[in-house]
Amino acid sequence: MNNSTRLSVVIHTEEEFDWNAGFFASNNGVQHGEELIEFCEELIALGAKIVFAMDYAFVTAEQGQAVIKHFKTHHANDVEFATHLHPWVNPPFAEQDEAHEKDSYPGNLPAETEQAKLTVLTEAIENLVGYRPATYLAGRYGVGDNTYKILKALGYTVDLSITPFTDYRHQEGPDFSNYNNEEVTIEGIRCIPHSTGFVSYMSPFTDYLNKKAGNLERLNNNLIGKVLLKLLGVRKVRLSAEGYNSKDMLALTSSLIRLGCSHLLYSFHSPTVKMGVTPYTQNQLALGKFKNQTYQYLTQSKQITHSCIMPNSKRAFLKEQHELS
Ligand SMILES: [Zn+2]
Repeated sequence: MNNSTRLSVVIHTEEEFDWNAGFFASNNGVQHGEELIEFCEELIALGAKIVFAMDYAFVTAEQGQAVIKHFKTHHANDVEFATHLHPWVNPPFAEQDEAHEKDSYPGNLPAETEQAKLTVLTEAIENLVGYRPATYLAGRYGVGDNTYKILKALGYTVDLSITPFTDYRHQEGPDFSNYNNEEVTIEGIRCIPHSTGFVSYMSPFTDYLNKKAGNLERLNNNLIGKVLLKLLGVRKVRLSAEGYNSKDMLALTSSLIRLGCSHLLYSFHSPTVKMGVTPYTQNQLALGKFKNQTYQYLTQSKQITHSCIMPNSKRAFLKEQHELS
């Protein structure tokens, strides 16, 4: 195995909120800035390159701006500032405080609304970081029919929203069940999927499931297939210590490398670094486990991947340097 496969840490950088209690414009508090700086400093020390995909609540909060200033000043070459749209906390605001679940996915909004919100956010980030963000991650992975056209118009080149083998239609979200982890280009936007796939007790079988969308469903459709999936311990894994262990994440990483995937994403939500905010780190033990699994994964995956930010971001930094000089 060579280590030409790239790995980026992608952080959904956003306000704290109760994920099961609805979507409110007024719920925009950011109180985990210090914990985020501390944890990301540790990841950078391990050699990680970090993409902060930031939403409007984060970039307008005092603590959010302190995080941006810290990494912009001390680690400009280790981080990329990107965009994450949570439409319910992003102007132009709707009249009512609460957004329906359907409207929590930016891609479900009317094109003019999606574009207006993304324009405000893009400009807010550009003003703070000194260059125009070129990488996008939709809130709740919610890309839609108009998203890529809008991204193109606003100067974006990369999207990180596709979540392979996953269908969010039961909660009015997008359907990615036909995607695997290969990069695709949609309307001129380079789409690098949010690494998600399957692991089992047998590598060739793992690779078979990850190779093509539909291979798992085909087995799941009959009794023998179902038994086989059970016997081989098949489970779905995401490259994230929010619910997954480093052993399974490494198994998925190896499989995706064997299948020729060129760029993998390790991700988590920024509030998870503070105890008691997201479902993954409700107590000290869970927070310790989340951190340890992250350290282990990033340390061990270094043998088979190399860390980087998005392919386009170099240009953004060069542009910034040019403008400063
Ligand atoms: Zn988010």
